[in-house]
Amino acid sequence: MSKPRIAIVGAGLGGIAAALLLRQEGFEPILYEQAPAFSRLGAGIHVGPNVMKIMRRIGLEGAMEAMGSHPDYWYSRNGADAAILSQIPLGDFARKHYGASYLTVHRGDFHQLMVDAFPASSLLYNKRLTGIEDRGRNVVLRFEDGTVAEADIVIGADGVNSVIREHMLGAEAPRYTGWVAHRAVFSADRLAKYGFKFDQCVKWWSEDRHMMVYYVTEKQDEYYYVTGVPQAEWDMSKAWVQSSQEEMREAFAGYHPMVQALIDACDDITKWPLLERDPLPLWSRGRMVMLGDACHPMKPHMAQGAAMAIEDAAMLARCFGQVGVEDYETAFALYRANRIERASRVQKVSHDNTWLRTNEDPAWVFGYDVFEVPLIEPARV
Ligand code: FAD
Repeated sequence: MSKPRIAIVGAGLGGIAAALLLRQEGFEPILYEQAPAFSRLGAGIHVGPNVMKIMRRIGLEGAMEAMGSHPDYWYSRNGADAAILSQIPLGDFARKHYGASYLTVHRGDFHQLMVDAFPASSLLYNKRLTGIEDRGRNVVLRFEDGTVAEADIVIGADGVNSVIREHMLGAEAPRYTGWVAHRAVFSADRLAKYGFKFDQCVKWWSEDRHMMVYYVTEKQDEYYYVTGVPQAEWDMSKAWVQSSQEEMREAFAGYHPMVQALIDACDDITKWPLLERDPLPLWSRGRMVMLGDACHPMKPHMAQGAAMAIEDAAMLARCFGQVGVEDYETAFALYRANRIERASRVQKVSHDNTWLRTNEDPAWVFGYDVFEVPLIEPARV
């Protein structure tokens, strides 16, 4: 392959990160995204030191530092009385011990920063993949708009309902976990009247539900909450629905007045289903490989789902750099061998929703450096 044609399907956080990292390895990937454009939807995201080391490699660490909130601690608090259950040092401690900052950011700002760093002409919108065929010598991609493209390698970064996963493993809807997440982003000004000192980053817990709360900007002028609340059923035809303050008050009855103030402060609340799959038996076949939610969707309770997608992207780029794209089967096997254990462990801990509820050591997650970790060889079959 003189100049391999790499197609990435899906320009979410995993796909755009893969595109930037592959460019750094000298490739010129094309991104195909179904959406007509991206907008700043209301959601925050944690960006741990494990991801910030990847942003450093891409050249975006400084811009991230300037964009995000820098919490000194992650607090866990008891829902009813705000008693501190854990206090995990971040801030300077994270920089010193894990090798980079711990940020909380607006998801849309983070995504836009990466999109802006990628050549616009190589990111094609309105390209919803509907069919894919591996012809041995190349792969043919068919899109809803009737267009067709060819590639030597296809990376499926197309999320929890991945068409590429379906092509490899058959149609199977993801599993609804029985939990939903409410999300709201709002101006921090609205909190002044309640007279509390709100934490920079806190998770409120009770037996079967929680609320994670943090700032999403460096100026700390926007605050965000995201919940995990049991709900028996979800209509799988809907990606999300509108929620309400009444629903939130009912779900968090008995929680501390600080939580009631957060519910009171914002009436624009959305509700999302939390979906999972069991670890997949394969991550690649022929010239196709997957990353992120396409191959290991998880509950968001470690705030590491996108982090795993971005780490996957970095490891895949590292394996291409090491092995070369000609020997893609070896590169894919090396990639999976070096990602499966970590991604599956994060999936499991996220499922159990125990992360940082007590004063545990988070070094295995935050201290990980995808570029430095020694590579393990794939098992021979
Ligand atoms: P996605 O972000 O789903 O991107 C997939 C992309 O592919 C989309 O742009 C989609 O439009 C496109 N696409 C899909 N199908 C096609 C097609 N057929 N053709 C073309 N394009 C297609 N993670 C964290 O790291 N930290 C957090 O704090 C955090 N909080 C979360 C809170 C909630 C409530 C939820 C639900 C998730 C949270 N996550 C968090 C997890 C994170 O959102 C996902 O793990 C992450 O977005 C996965 O990235 P991805 O690129 O694999 O998939």
